[in-house]
Amino acid sequence: MIANENNVHDPGMDSELKTNLNHIREKIKNALNRCEDPHRQVTLIAVSKKQPISKIEGLIRASQTDFGESYVQEALPKMDQLAESSVHWHFIGRLQTKKAKNVAGKFKLIHSVDSQKLAQGLHKKAKNLDLIQPVLIQVNIANEKQKSGVPLEELSGLAREILAMKHLRLDGLMLMPPFFDNPESARPYFAGLRMCRDQLCHELGVTMPHLSMGMSGDFEVAVEEGATLVRVGTALFGAREDC
Ligand SMILES: *Cc1c(COP(=O)(O)O)cnc(C)c1O
Repeated sequence: MIANENNVHDPGMDSELKTNLNHIREKIKNALNRCEDPHRQVTLIAVSKKQPISKIEGLIRASQTDFGESYVQEALPKMDQLAESSVHWHFIGRLQTKKAKNVAGKFKLIHSVDSQKLAQGLHKKAKNLDLIQPVLIQVNIANEKQKSGVPLEELSGLAREILAMKHLRLDGLMLMPPFFDNPESARPYFAGLRMCRDQLCHELGVTMPHLSMGMSGDFEVAVEEGATLVRVGTALFGAREDC
């Protein structure tokens, strides 16, 4: 009989997930110990896009609490299936303004706000729900044409607009650096995001605690440069279903 992957609890898979998780937690701890502020809190977000529910459940059993999804139409059904668990969900993918109403109020943090229109859509829904939605602004530091994220020169304007929206709370910045084989090559971008955040806080007289940066290949460098949220997919789960 073929096992139903969604219902069967596979001890081999669980132990592999737990091993990956412990390994990544250890690497984060070691990277933190190389920093000036080793007591900074870093949250590991398990990026579960295109990963089966069974693996998410395995990681939940291994005590992982924060998960990240990139596609609204994939995320919402998964969240429904796991509604009994106390998972914190993060939205990390590109978000179309017309889908803002489906997302606001459902995620602990939305990492990918990059336009005033999108912010307004989220704000409107959060206001209707009478809640405050925490968000990050995604910054396109390298000004890559195909990438989402606000260009550097528009960052401060967008931050001002969001700060004026009472039902959004601006918690920091998010970055997807250009792809490099060598994680050291991403370091200047991570350091750049930290400087942007510090400058913005100074300019606007606010505090924003979070820097969401670092993925499977480069999260240690990101932590060394000040990340408070790292988004790790394949190093934790293995290859995605589309790979
Ligand atoms: C997919 C994705 C990740 C995780 O990538 P891995 O290389 O699998 O760790 C992180 N952040 C964003 C925005 C993503 O879309």
